[in-house]
Amino acid sequence: MKTHWPNQTENKAASTAQSQSNENDRAPLGYAAVEDLSRHTSFGIGGPAEFFFTPAGRSQLIETARRCREAGLPTYALGKGTNLLVSDEGVKGAVISTAGLQNIEANDGTITADCGVGLPRLIALAEERGLSGLEPLAGIPGSLGGAIKMNAGTASRCIADVIKEITLLTPDGGVFCIGTAEADFGYRCSGLDGAIVLSATFRLLPSDRRRVAQSVRAHWQRKAEKHPTTQASAGCIFKNPPGNSAGRILDHLGLKGAVEGGARISEKHANFIINCGRAKAADVKALIRRAREAVLSVRGIILELEIEVW
Ligand SMILES: Cc1cc2nc3c(=O)[nH]c(=O)nc-3n(C[C@H](O)[C@H](O)[C@H](O)COP(=O)(O)OP(=O)(O)OC[C@H]3O[C@@H](n4cnc5c(N)ncnc54)[C@H](O)[C@@H]3O)c2cc1C
Repeated sequence: MKTHWPNQTENKAASTAQSQSNENDRAPLGYAAVEDLSRHTSFGIGGPAEFFFTPAGRSQLIETARRCREAGLPTYALGKGTNLLVSDEGVKGAVISTAGLQNIEANDGTITADCGVGLPRLIALAEERGLSGLEPLAGIPGSLGGAIKMNAGTASRCIADVIKEITLLTPDGGVFCIGTAEADFGYRCSGLDGAIVLSATFRLLPSDRRRVAQSVRAHWQRKAEKHPTTQASAGCIFKNPPGNSAGRILDHLGLKGAVEGGARISEKHANFIINCGRAKAADVKALIRRAREAVLSVRGIILELEIEVW
């Protein structure tokens, strides 16, 4: 889905957002000629990025993206790499890591945070301030930017439900604040393709601190019981088909434990593929193909990918 981005005069917040630069932004652009992306994905899989940038703050990121655009390089935003399968050949173009964007503050029932902030840190601050709304996202290991792009969540809540506004860098270099309606959120997707989320503000409900903490713990525990959270994976591989569970279907087809090279379908949850140590992206792709073919031929269902493939 393509979002209509507002033009500069439509959006007053743009200039404010652009001026909120980080002190570190004066440092030279972080740059490594070639960087192995297996070091930056929770799968531990992936070939090299042709150009890898680690800007230290918002203005550096905007400047990096501008230079990449002018050089005609395809550009990819990288959060914590927890929803990615990077091919063994790697990525042609520029990968911009958001790890250096780490500002976060709480104010009057809202939290505003940079895109590189991890969801666990965001949730910990909400818990500390007795702010409720983010608890069901406990246990999701991504960054705020990646979570917004993917509309991460669980059966009961997705991140879009608690967003007040998002500050974005659009593909042509504009910086805008948008609301959730303009972000076109859907089930594990958004209309933010090509844009980089710079930061977001969350509207949360004042609550009892202990109750928020208990709820966070309960969600963590439920996830740890159901999912293979201690093994190298990228979370759920497939989206759930309407009214069904991809994991349950794969389980019924006997695919738990299926192996291709160094990759295996988890015995704990059939919608997770595990890197058993030396898996290649090709091994994971072969398992994905096998699972999809089985589900299509036996159940007539086409499974859609939840993970992003680079
Ligand atoms: C053990 C485990 C459990 C998981 N459980 C869940 C779960 O319960 N629910 C769920 O929804 N997901 C889950 N995930 C998947 C993943 O954690 C989420 O999708 C997460 O929000 C992705 O964030 P990330 O920073 O890792 O994104 P990345 O993997 O780095 O990137 C994913 C996509 O987001 C884009 N992106 C990253 N940063 C930005 C940015 N600043 N602006 C624009 N685009 C950006 C990337 O270009 C890419 O297209 C799980 C993953 C693991 C490993």
